[in-house]
Amino acid sequence: MSDTNNYRILLYYKFVAIPEAEQFATEHLAYCKELGVKGRILIADEGINGTLSGTFQQTEQYMNDMKANPLFSDMVFKIDDAENHAFKKIFVRYKKELVTLRYDKPLDPNTLTGTHLSPKEFHDYLQREDVIVLDGRSDYEYDLGHFRNAIRPDLKTFKEFPEWLRENMADLKDKPILTYCTGGIRCEKLTGVMLSEGFKDVYQLDGGIVTYGKDEEVQGRLFDGKCYVFDERISVPINRTDEAVVVGKCHHCGSPADTYINCADDTCHRQHIVCPDCEESHHGFCSEECEDHVTSV
Ligand SMILES: [Zn+2]
Ligand SMILES: [Zn+2]
Repeated sequence: MSDTNNYRILLYYKFVAIPEAEQFATEHLAYCKELGVKGRILIADEGINGTLSGTFQQTEQYMNDMKANPLFSDMVFKIDDAENHAFKKIFVRYKKELVTLRYDKPLDPNTLTGTHLSPKEFHDYLQREDVIVLDGRSDYEYDLGHFRNAIRPDLKTFKEFPEWLRENMADLKDKPILTYCTGGIRCEKLTGVMLSEGFKDVYQLDGGIVTYGKDEEVQGRLFDGKCYVFDERISVPINRTDEAVVVGKCHHCGSPADTYINCADDTCHRQHIVCPDCEESHHGFCSEECEDHVTSV
């Protein structure tokens, strides 16, 4: 078969009560190792969130096996073609929650969450004058690419979002608000927080940016730049129209760039956007201090 060398990357989540989730995580790790897929899978009492890579056959088998489990029979898998694995190892971890938020009320997306919009519906809403668009991710993800006119929350981690909302969006509670994130899972909870906090009209992009990018009709048109992803690709293109632009800026010279690298100084390891010229001239370091630090050792 000609497909045997093709790899795929899967992205998926589902909020569903998993009985004995810790035990399930142990068994799932053994299953994944046996199957040969690699990636990162979180399992909690409230559900599952995973991204993994494997050959066409391995990923097909994984999806079939998962769908055979009544808990996950309707799980939606986002599928990307790839030339190779996008992870070096397989991690399956039990966690208390799938998405961590510093918030004093319990959040269950199955009972309280924002209205889901398909990519086409989201696309149409984006063009309305009265809507506010809120990026549901962290600052470094926004800086590589985002929906046109979206608000950039200056957050390093997602868990600070409730506090940020209170400080920055308290006067927007009567406005229609669109939220989005990479694959949709963060907005399931973020919009729940917003509804709890008194926001009245809250929407989320179903399947996230990656699904918007795959939609045949909208073709990613209103997404500027690239989408940050949590695997070895680091970024993926979304906008397939002639409107595609670069929004990232080189950390050193400020010119348009969309490649993230980690500082070559292992004690720093700071992730920063670089242009090809600066990557060469700065030897992969984020600063002169880091370069001096390493070359003087
Ligand atoms: Zn540069
Ligand atoms: Zn550095």
